[in-house]
Amino acid sequence: MRIARVEPLTTARALRGPFDYLLADDFEEVTVGTRLIVPFAGRRLESVVVELDDRSDLPVERLASPVSVVAPAIPTELVSLALRVASSYCSTPARALQLVAAPGGRAGAGPQTALHAALTVEGRTALESGKRLTEGQRDAIEALLGGPLRAKDVPGGTQGLRRLEARGLVAIEAQRVSRRPAPDGYDPGRIRPALNSDQKAVLAEVIAELESAAGSRGILLHGVTGSGKTEIYLGAAERALELGRGVLVLVPELALTPQAVARFSARLGDTVGVIHSGLSAGERYDEWTRLADGEARVCVGPRSAVFAPVRDLGLVIVDEEHESAYRNDGDPGYDAREVARWRAEEEGGLLLAGSATPRPESVRRLRRLRLDRRADGAPMPPVELLDMKGVRGALHPATVEALANVKREGGKAIVLLNRRGWSNYLSCGSCGRVWTCPACDVTLVLHRNEGFIGCHHCGHRESVPDHCPDCGSASVSRHGAGTERIESQIRSLVGSDDFPVLRLDADSASRKGAAGDLLTAFQSARAGVLIGTQMVAKGHDFPDVTLGIVVDADSTLRFPDFRSEERTFQLVTQLAGRAGRGPGGGRVLVQTTTPDSPVLMLAARHDADGFLEEELSRRDALGYPPAAALVRIQLGSESEADVESAAQAVVELLEGSGLEPLGPAPLFRLRGRHRRQILVRSADREHLVGSVEAAVAAAAATPAGRRSAIGTEVDAG
Ligand code: ADP
Ligand code: ZN
Ligand code: ZN
Repeated sequence: MRIARVEPLTTARALRGPFDYLLADDFEEVTVGTRLIVPFAGRRLESVVVELDDRSDLPVERLASPVSVVAPAIPTELVSLALRVASSYCSTPARALQLVAAPGGRAGAGPQTALHAALTVEGRTALESGKRLTEGQRDAIEALLGGPLRAKDVPGGTQGLRRLEARGLVAIEAQRVSRRPAPDGYDPGRIRPALNSDQKAVLAEVIAELESAAGSRGILLHGVTGSGKTEIYLGAAERALELGRGVLVLVPELALTPQAVARFSARLGDTVGVIHSGLSAGERYDEWTRLADGEARVCVGPRSAVFAPVRDLGLVIVDEEHESAYRNDGDPGYDAREVARWRAEEEGGLLLAGSATPRPESVRRLRRLRLDRRADGAPMPPVELLDMKGVRGALHPATVEALANVKREGGKAIVLLNRRGWSNYLSCGSCGRVWTCPACDVTLVLHRNEGFIGCHHCGHRESVPDHCPDCGSASVSRHGAGTERIESQIRSLVGSDDFPVLRLDADSASRKGAAGDLLTAFQSARAGVLIGTQMVAKGHDFPDVTLGIVVDADSTLRFPDFRSEERTFQLVTQLAGRAGRGPGGGRVLVQTTTPDSPVLMLAARHDADGFLEEELSRRDALGYPPAAALVRIQLGSESEADVESAAQAVVELLEGSGLEPLGPAPLFRLRGRHRRQILVRSADREHLVGSVEAAVAAAAATPAGRRSAIGTEVDAG
């Protein structure tokens, strides 16, 4: 007797698998990872086999049998990976298995075939042997003399070919075609620069560890911006392929994928595959099978590519490992950096994470190798802190002067402000009314260019008021500055035809391709200013930027989160990495009301080691990751009473497990939902995650819980 234990791929949390099915003889190919259509509660569901057994706890006559098999199967190691994701992130096996499930089943996602035509023996001599042929038929045969072709590429097309087929001159058959994603026309740059001595030493260490990767704790490549970390990744990937092993390359966001694919393909060739959400279902299917079949040995992609079916994984690269985009917002709220580490661990491969501003947890956990010099030899630009106390307006006089200098010298500047719009909120000068969102407890932000006030959380929009609806006063005042307002101020200060002032944020980049166009415009301009949200500080390489400005360093520093120091340090350091890459050097100005804050002073000195040391001891003292595991539980409901009572239930259940939850604390109302947050920390990760999962499941089953949504986030950030 063969029993398949399966998890149905449904999102219902209440469904607790796995479930047993009896395998008849004609299902002998079934293994762990096989996808089966099974009868389930009167429906047919797709499911994944997670275990095989020769007995069941249920009487055999009560066991149903699967209906059919869906191809392709999930590789066994990805099934265990998914189950680990489910249990580590308080999710369900079904949801996690969906992350690794091969595409397929849906229309357009299966293998694609196309009709191909070839000449028969008779057809090959048809032109000489004086057969009666129309001119079109002659053209078709002539084209096929060069070899078989896709039917649609032959003159006269399929219809004409069918007539030739009927006369025995042509053979037509359906053949599998591969839908490779179109190359993006990125110039990969110089393909193989001679490594400098630092790079050589680091690469030798990485390769030595790669060759004996089993048992390695992984390597953190801590290299300043522009130190040439990519050359290390490429050299290590080449060696892994020579050793006959597969390679996974993770980049923080979709936008950076084409660039990475171009660089890796230029060096490694056709063996590079790519998986990301921008692929069509067909392309995704083909890339997935190319990897699963071992035809492609390298996969490049953003966080979801961590589940790519690369075979015999020998090397897992995580570029810009500090980026929070590696964390998935949905359920399971997995962290691709963590999953990457597990994959390397389980397949005896080497984890190679790189960053100019690594996370404290990686510094503690991984073996750190350093690249302290930029590949072009340029020094790091000086960072100056500008005290904004007593300064009127959004720009410090020194900032204004520096911008004027850049304009005079014909250079480029990047200005960073993490707030979109013109001003943060509007208020009535007579009665004090503040314009807020009807569905969320937040103020409406003025977007002057497009002429509306809007909510940045739910998208609600209203027209710009010219008087107060409460008291009728016409004195409506605007508070705070966002990117739009800074853009307009800087434009009136220094903007001109040969000194363009550009803005890059979610508003200006909402049209597809607009972000790329703006970046190209800035890159090709001889001089100018690029203003924007965090988007401007990431991954782009502008050799001629000489000035970087952080308009409001306090906004990240004040963020109520244990990672706010880490984020602030990263932001300033990353911006410093963007400025002054060229021969002229550069400088960075950081506007703040707290110029004596330790984290800003460390960033100004480029003292990454000092920062990491202080941050790790602070986390140890306060019991934050990596000293302890931390779970954030968020609850939301349209009824405040329900969300409060569900949150209370979670807290009591956690206390019952011997934990000390913090909260429930109210969060601002979002999209009409009242929200609560609970934080729990513990040095015993397994106990913590297990208790949270149980508490959430139990609370979700109460009447108030059923009317609430509950989400969890492990080690947030
Ligand atoms: P990082 O990822 O460390 O910020 P990159 O790998 O993107 O840096 O390299 C920065 C620039 O330096 C790239 O243009 C790269 O081609 C160049 N580069 C890297 N190594 C060398 C080298 N040894 N000699 C010359 N240029 C190099
Ligand atoms: Zn008023
Ligand atoms: Zn809203």
